[in-house]
Amino acid sequence: MYSNSFKMNSLFKLAFLLLCINAIGQEKNLKNIQKLTFGGDNAEAYFSPNGNMLTLQVSNPKANIPCDQIYIYDLQSKTYSSDNLKLVSTGKGRTTCSYFMPDGKHIIYASTHASSADCPAPPKPHDGKYLWAVYPEFDIYMADLKGNIVKQLTNSPGYDAEAVVSPDGKKIAFTSTRSGDLELWTMNIDGTNLKQITNGLGYDGGSFFSHDSKKLVFRSSRPKTEADIADYKALLKENVVAPTEMEIYTCNVDGSDLKQITHLGKANWAPFFHPSDKKIIFSSNHHSTRGYDFQLYMIDIDGTNLKQITWESEFNAFPMFSPDGKKLVWSSNRQQNAARETNVFIADWVDSDENEKAKPELLKKHIAYLTSDELKGRLTGSAGEQKAADYLSAQFKSLGLKPYEGKDYIQKFDYKVRLNPHDSINSESIDNTGRNVIAYLDNKAAKTIVIGAHYDHLGLNEHNNSTKANSKGEIHNGADDNASGTSGVLELARMFSKNKATEKVNYIFALFSGEEDGLIGSKHMAETLKTKYPNVVAMINMDMIGRLNDKKELIVGGVGTSPEFKKLTEKNKPAGFNVTMEDSGIGPTDHTSFYLKDIAVLNFFTGTHSDYHKPSDDEDKINYTGVTNIVDYVFRMANDVADLDKVEFTKTKANAGKTRPKYKVTMGIMPDYSEHADGLHIDGVTENRPAQVAGIKEGDVLTKIGTFEIKDVYTYMDALAKINAGDILDVTILRDGETKVVKVKFE
Ligand SMILES: [Zn+2]
Repeated sequence: MYSNSFKMNSLFKLAFLLLCINAIGQEKNLKNIQKLTFGGDNAEAYFSPNGNMLTLQVSNPKANIPCDQIYIYDLQSKTYSSDNLKLVSTGKGRTTCSYFMPDGKHIIYASTHASSADCPAPPKPHDGKYLWAVYPEFDIYMADLKGNIVKQLTNSPGYDAEAVVSPDGKKIAFTSTRSGDLELWTMNIDGTNLKQITNGLGYDGGSFFSHDSKKLVFRSSRPKTEADIADYKALLKENVVAPTEMEIYTCNVDGSDLKQITHLGKANWAPFFHPSDKKIIFSSNHHSTRGYDFQLYMIDIDGTNLKQITWESEFNAFPMFSPDGKKLVWSSNRQQNAARETNVFIADWVDSDENEKAKPELLKKHIAYLTSDELKGRLTGSAGEQKAADYLSAQFKSLGLKPYEGKDYIQKFDYKVRLNPHDSINSESIDNTGRNVIAYLDNKAAKTIVIGAHYDHLGLNEHNNSTKANSKGEIHNGADDNASGTSGVLELARMFSKNKATEKVNYIFALFSGEEDGLIGSKHMAETLKTKYPNVVAMINMDMIGRLNDKKELIVGGVGTSPEFKKLTEKNKPAGFNVTMEDSGIGPTDHTSFYLKDIAVLNFFTGTHSDYHKPSDDEDKINYTGVTNIVDYVFRMANDVADLDKVEFTKTKANAGKTRPKYKVTMGIMPDYSEHADGLHIDGVTENRPAQVAGIKEGDVLTKIGTFEIKDVYTYMDALAKINAGDILDVTILRDGETKVVKVKFE
């Protein structure tokens, strides 16, 4: 028994710890999140003018509320429970969209009770389409807080609903089909002076006033193609709409100055102005690869600066700021006690530090410069590398960062370059000198984290690292490899040094050279790092983060090198990302140098592609939204690693305790470093090398070399270490599902 109770105890502790981690997690704008309702479907909760009450709609068959009814909720009550709910609609028909009147003693809401006491049926999906009903029986009523209807505000045939009151108390905005289409209308607070505000074909609805009462923000689905228009009209005849494509718009209260704010695709809805009226918070599933996954986002009113606000559960919508701007209320599927319940939550609102957000225009500026032909591909030791180093130093200097060592940011290293990297024996070698560019952000903390990326590339292919045949003399600009990661380090240096917070760690921002010749610069730095900075606990690397694909696939390596890394990687993952985690601290880039010095590491990588190590790896192919999201991801990770009490180092399985195997031969293939179930995927084949000579092609999957089973890049490297030059072995590959065996002569 005693071991069991011990287990329970530690489970409890673990659960509690997890809760804490979530609470201090990436929802940095939301502090002190509290659940207000407990079961059923609770939505559209909006504050009273003094912020002491909410009005909301509730349906909860278990609590005998089968059809949406309007309740008010007392926020003054000491504890948050269902007891704080009080019915204020008639209990008949269906109701929706309630809102407090300026006196705080009345509410308005839409209801179908006048036409029937029964609950109108929800719409059935047509051809699998999810539909919203726009019941023509809805009219807008005003009631006191005891539930007595004191006035009917609309009585025209057709849908009238979604009414909200302007903060100055003068106007009501609502949605109506009275013109024949779903449009926004306004009226005076007493129901007079009706005015049509929008007139585009489509569903304009769900409007809210700005805090100065001068503007409306709303969501609109405006069909464009003839087929979509016909579809929309046919559905509207049946009093339904398909809310799958909606964007956020603003206009003046008289309908002038109409602007489309979002162009995100999918469903962007439930907008509300930030207290500054300069930003809009809204719900969106634009990031989702599945459709249903609504998170809250914020965007500037000029349509820039999109930022994700919520990160938990698959439904977050109907956000509203309290009148004093200090709180946010919204509906969410988080903290469920039963499947499919939606509850109302309240949190303290914390405005973001704008400097803690990666700026795509700065990322672009850095990448554009580093990949300009002027730098001739940034070959280690070249004039182009020197120019790049000058640029990087100037960036660090402008941020007020200290040099890592000595008087400037440059750390030189000497090494020999093998001019044929595939042949260690018969290769001519030359002396070369490279320059790392390294800065230090001193937060006077007890721990230090290195954030790094290599900035060198292949130049004019002088060192024969290109995968394009006969490409000597062609500039290899290396936009993805690795101007992308370099720009990420520069942005993170800016974010961490210009933000208001002082982190609990110091940061070293390291830009390596010599990577393409064999991780030379990072090895040089790692060699003496711990004598200079004994408190380094982690190294985060970015190599090739510029090609995020449509499926948003990102590989995060090194998650096995510290016990907390997997959890943090999962928790901080941007919405819609498909992250593949790899345990090993060894990989084909610079984090390996630090792992081999027993430092916990992480590496971010968007995967290889057909332009890898070719002159065609250019700036115009960079996915800047992707880079921005990844840099923000790394920022959150670096913060969370900083928050850990201790960053423990664990050796990982693949090659644990060993150095990278030294192999004497190569095949001339470009392996895909991510793990696949069927074997090692081949991303590229070098001309006139053994694999190509034997007929192996890009896209083939390597499963066996001689008697060695090949599962991934590690088993591949292990096999190569045991093969001698001149050996002729059977190599098994999968091509389009078929097994083929070819003879390869290893060199
Ligand atoms: Zn490279």
